[in-house]
Amino acid sequence: SIVYVNGSFVPREEAVVSVFDHGLLYGDGVFEGIRAYGGRVFRLEAHVRRLYDSAQAIMLDIPMTQEEMCEAILETLRRNNLRDAYIRPVVTRGVGDLGLDPRKCSKPTVIIIAISWDAMYGDLYEVGLNAITVTVRRNSPAALPPNIKSLNYLNNILAKIEANIKGGDEAIFLDAEGTISEGSGDNIFVVRDGKIYTPPTLNNLKGITREVVLELANRNGIPVHETRLGLFDLYTAEEVFVTGTAAEIAPVARIDGRVIGNGKPGPVTKLLMKLFRECTESEGTP
Ligand code: PLP
Repeated sequence: SIVYVNGSFVPREEAVVSVFDHGLLYGDGVFEGIRAYGGRVFRLEAHVRRLYDSAQAIMLDIPMTQEEMCEAILETLRRNNLRDAYIRPVVTRGVGDLGLDPRKCSKPTVIIIAISWDAMYGDLYEVGLNAITVTVRRNSPAALPPNIKSLNYLNNILAKIEANIKGGDEAIFLDAEGTISEGSGDNIFVVRDGKIYTPPTLNNLKGITREVVLELANRNGIPVHETRLGLFDLYTAEEVFVTGTAAEIAPVARIDGRVIGNGKPGPVTKLLMKLFRECTESEGTP
């Protein structure tokens, strides 16, 4: 495959960065995860905008315009001849010395990787995920705002490890107060009495798939509320699902051993999955 590195397209084996890159040394950088369906990139502008917002929040000046970034992403997809793909733009602070000081980093490193990809949960879309709430907390907005899609994913990885150990397919974070935050790589929704509830995005990432689900619910007359949720709300929901670029919309069948609803993907989840599929099939930047 062909990877974009600082303005050049190079074969995968030659796509390397310095060991002095602060993305590696300190997780000092930002990234995106973007899907292409049938050769068209889904919600490209929204993802690129979020990348630039993340960069702005950490005072990282991406050395190209958003339009140029969109074009570089599309060109990476083209050069790899991909139709159903996952695209990973990464921007780091760049090469510096061993100190923290970002002023020593002269220019950001820009990478775009594109690989062939299908929805990440395979057979689980039919039966639902087994989700586990984990002891590691989502980083607090007072420390590193979860809206920044930074290269610091260690708490997400610890959450994933905990879910793996406990036999879960996905980890669900609480925040420091015990309020539901999100999954390790997706946002969370519950359905009760035909209404949809999802936490506001102060303690989780403003997911673009989450945004699509809110649009779809509004357009199809399904009431939706952004409201803080607790463990009780998860355990007693009729349906729970998670949303993300990689996960798409994935039903959750069990949480911490509790069976959700009748333990099968529910009608609202299934309707949204169908509506989401229609979106990914009809939209996108060629
Ligand atoms: N939450 C986290 C922590 C994520 O990493 C992601 C993935 O990007 C999401 C939620 C879902 O966001 P999106 O739907 O924009 O992919």
